[in-house]
Amino acid sequence: MKHHKVRVSEDVKTIAVPAIDAVNSVIHGFSTRVGGVSAEPFSAMNLGLNLGEDNDLVEINRCLFVKALGAGNPDIYTIRQTHGTRIVQIDDAKIPAVEYRQAQGDALMTNLPGIPIGVLTADCVPILLIDPVQRAVAAVHAGRQGSLLRIVTHVVRRMQDAFGTEPEHLRAAVGPGIEARCYDIGETLAADVRERFAHAEPFLQEEDGAHYLDLRGMNHADLVAAGLREAHIHHVNLCTACEAQTFYSYRRRRGGQTGRMMSLVMLKE
Ligand SMILES: [Zn+2]
Repeated sequence: MKHHKVRVSEDVKTIAVPAIDAVNSVIHGFSTRVGGVSAEPFSAMNLGLNLGEDNDLVEINRCLFVKALGAGNPDIYTIRQTHGTRIVQIDDAKIPAVEYRQAQGDALMTNLPGIPIGVLTADCVPILLIDPVQRAVAAVHAGRQGSLLRIVTHVVRRMQDAFGTEPEHLRAAVGPGIEARCYDIGETLAADVRERFAHAEPFLQEEDGAHYLDLRGMNHADLVAAGLREAHIHHVNLCTACEAQTFYSYRRRRGGQTGRMMSLVMLKE
């Protein structure tokens, strides 16, 4: 099966994983910067709040994204991401999404149908987890810090505890993020990573004085170690730093203002 497919719905371009589409109980998708109403430097489909543009425009974009996915509920549950490992479970559908916007965390999970959950990224690795047996989903933001702290491992464990998830049933979709050859973290940071995170060593590569870190590879290894089947881990092999027309990239902007893409998953009602 092809690893990803691109959909365009009323100018809004989204990316889906066919193997996840085949799980009939969920809707999922990864946004791009194509479509939407944002102006430079957020043009045109910024889905991240409080980044310096009018949040009303972000709300419009979020509606367009949900509409493009056919997810129905435009009230997407997002949280304030902090590069940690805190996981927020949405367990009461009566608490609206807006109440969670200031909650800190880097992963959301739920077993409630009709509740779209999303994480925001611009180079970091987004991971969607789907348990089609116990009917539960998670959205994970795995940047450098989260990956080194093994956030995805924590999320799989929490799904086991909260939903009775068997890891071998889990499907994972690893969305667009920065690839290793575009991610030179520099000598000082590489040395620090080597010293503090032994498990990251196989994913650090030194070449001509550059020190590349493979975030996708790290998360893939963690998913396998957590008990997922290789055949259930699907990668969107697109690099956010390379594809400027399609994705926001924090690194390409050298830390300047840019928008955020969203990775969304929702259990169908
Ligand atoms: Zn690249």
